[in-house]
Amino acid sequence: MTLFYRRTSLDRDTTFYVPKVTCFACNDSGIVANGDNAINKYIPDYDKTSNGKINGGQDLAVICHCDAAYGKDDTSGLRENNGNIRQVQNFRGEMQCLGFSLEKDKIRQIHIDRKASWEATAKEINTLRSKRAKGEKVETPYYIQVVKEELGNINSMFNFPK
Ligand SMILES: [Zn+2]
Repeated sequence: MTLFYRRTSLDRDTTFYVPKVTCFACNDSGIVANGDNAINKYIPDYDKTSNGKINGGQDLAVICHCDAAYGKDDTSGLRENNGNIRQVQNFRGEMQCLGFSLEKDKIRQIHIDRKASWEATAKEINTLRSKRAKGEKVETPYYIQVVKEELGNINSMFNFPK
């Protein structure tokens, strides 16, 4: 058996790439997440309690309009072939939709905004990496600094209040 430990030059590439997805609204999962509050632009109280506190999962999932929401046949997928959101029986025996539909043009706008945001991030990170590779001193972007600081407190992250 021959052991190879050298990466190909492509694997060693330090380029920051935009994710290779077709739909930036749902990342090809069929469900539009709200981690960046993009849905709140259209539904201000989505996944929020009555006092405005963020409570992810409180509301039904937003089902995308792209191919990822459709199944391979008429018994699978988050949407049926006619575009209606699939219903399933809940634990009380009632039929319930798997999620809800936000208008197509709003989902398209979320796709456009997220794609643009990824492209801007890739451009910024690649500029920084290129400067750093040349030995230039670069300042860490605030969003990386914030994550670094949060990870610095990770030991207390899962502690129960005393
Ligand atoms: Zn999608």
